[in-house]
Amino acid sequence: MTPAEDIALNLARLRERIAEATARANRPAGSVTLVAVSKTHPAEAVVAALGAGQRVFGENRVQEAATKFPGLRPDWPDLRLHVIGALQTNKAREAVRIADAIESLDRPKLAAALAEAMAKEARRPEVLVQVNVGEEPQKAGIPPAETDAFLRECLEVHGLPVSGLMCIPPAEGDPRRHFTWLAERAARHGLPVVSMGMSGDFEAAIACGATHVRVGSAIFGTRG
Ligand SMILES: *Cc1c(COP(=O)(O)O)cnc(C)c1O
Repeated sequence: MTPAEDIALNLARLRERIAEATARANRPAGSVTLVAVSKTHPAEAVVAALGAGQRVFGENRVQEAATKFPGLRPDWPDLRLHVIGALQTNKAREAVRIADAIESLDRPKLAAALAEAMAKEARRPEVLVQVNVGEEPQKAGIPPAETDAFLRECLEVHGLPVSGLMCIPPAEGDPRRHFTWLAERAARHGLPVVSMGMSGDFEAAIACGATHVRVGSAIFGTRG
């Protein structure tokens, strides 16, 4: 099989698993969006996925996303790009310029930088607040206990278009407690988007209420 055929087959299998997990959770068909994480894979891999009907992509580095995605937009106007990785404040403006969603708002300084960038660019990609649900020192994200106050700051001080919450739970242990916490917290704030679940745990995330799952290796293969 060619790499493009591999990607199309992987996507078909994944859509089936997402549909099954959605049905098992008694949730409406189509209520979970697949964000195809194409980081480290070339633009050709993205084109193969686009050809197989995928439209929403995730990249964790703004620089890499900027080399791959703007050139694809003329041919695929309904393409959507999510920035999902740690974002330096000096990359906020470029992120606002190229992204449709920024999932990794994880600190007050970045909230201010994004607000300023949105004013300058006259462009308002939706924003998700990343929560460090496992309170892991090495991981980015707002501590769970500070989430409510940080959301208020984003909305009331910065006027950011916050649409939801995102998390990456600890690699070890059962993630469902964290997934459930995130979904409940988003609901409490009336936020419609809950981004959680990756190649290894997206079915559990869907059972707990994920609206967006971010899957890379199960589509594009392992990263070199
Ligand atoms: C890489 C990445 C993913 C996808 O991980 P896979 O295990 O390859 O599915 C999801 N979310 C974030 C934030 C990532 O950096």
